[in-house]
Amino acid sequence: MPLEPGTPGEPARAPRVLIVEDEPAMAAALRDGFRYEGFSVLVASDGAAGLRLAQQSEIDLVVLDVMLPKLSGLEICRQLRAAKSGVPILMLSARGQEADKVEGLEIGADDYVTKPFGFAELMARAQALLRRARRPAEPETCSFGDVVVDFRRLRATRAGLPLELSQREFAILAFLVARRGEVVTREQLLQVVWGYDSLPLTRTVDMHIAKLRRKIERTPVEPEFIVTVHRGGYRFAG
Ligand code: CA
Repeated sequence: MPLEPGTPGEPARAPRVLIVEDEPAMAAALRDGFRYEGFSVLVASDGAAGLRLAQQSEIDLVVLDVMLPKLSGLEICRQLRAAKSGVPILMLSARGQEADKVEGLEIGADDYVTKPFGFAELMARAQALLRRARRPAEPETCSFGDVVVDFRRLRATRAGLPLELSQREFAILAFLVARRGEVVTREQLLQVVWGYDSLPLTRTVDMHIAKLRRKIERTPVEPEFIVTVHRGGYRFAG
């Protein structure tokens, strides 16, 4: 399966944006702009339709005007968050509506731009929200087998006894755990754990994985948590 670089495990598809905006000229300009940037676009011209579409369709981003007929942008935001929707929301607030802006962020909008704005700025903020949403959350803790790992404090135990892991081993484990079930390549691990500047061999990754397995696996030669994927890399199966 072809994968886009930088978005491991995610099939390439056009991101889908929902634009909720009642001014026809603004809605059309946003629609054309997002389409030009490769998005698939849904447009709603009032708040009620916007909320309905946001709840029913698979949306990657909502661009939400505050002042809307039927249901305000703030109310839409509130209802989406009350329904546990984590969809990124970018609010459009009019100049002079600073209170709306603050309230919007408080009730769960992710970012805002003030009208009038340049499309390039809006797009940069939209892309930043998409990148943030796509990145798997860093795990805080995890447990598998008799191992318990606290990534925040960089502490681990095995069967209740302290388990010595190096900082690099914590980083490898955190990266794998955040992508539980997905194939992680050696190159990805090199980039993230070792950094772009250093150029260690992919064999370095294998050596570190082998060492990590000796610490966390019940039978290191037959690993059940960090599984080798032939020609692929590794997969966390804990
Ligand atoms: Ca409006």
